[in-house]
Amino acid sequence: MSQPQVARQMHFHIRWEGVQRLDWEPFETREQAESRAKELVQSGESFVLEEHGKNCTRCASKFSVAS
Ligand SMILES: [Zn+2]
Repeated sequence: MSQPQVARQMHFHIRWEGVQRLDWEPFETREQAESRAKELVQSGESFVLEEHGKNCTRCASKFSVAS
């Protein structure tokens, strides 16, 4: 599994609120993340967009679980 290039720079994650949904796909822009979140969001769910840099703990934890 190769680390996506986007994880090395400023990127965005969707953080779901009120649901245990694991969608830590990184997005290059806030607009991409927001449009994707609006596709996925269901009634009663909400989300916030998080901005992260190259030291993103979301990506780090995602790629370190194999060991
Ligand atoms: Zn990340």
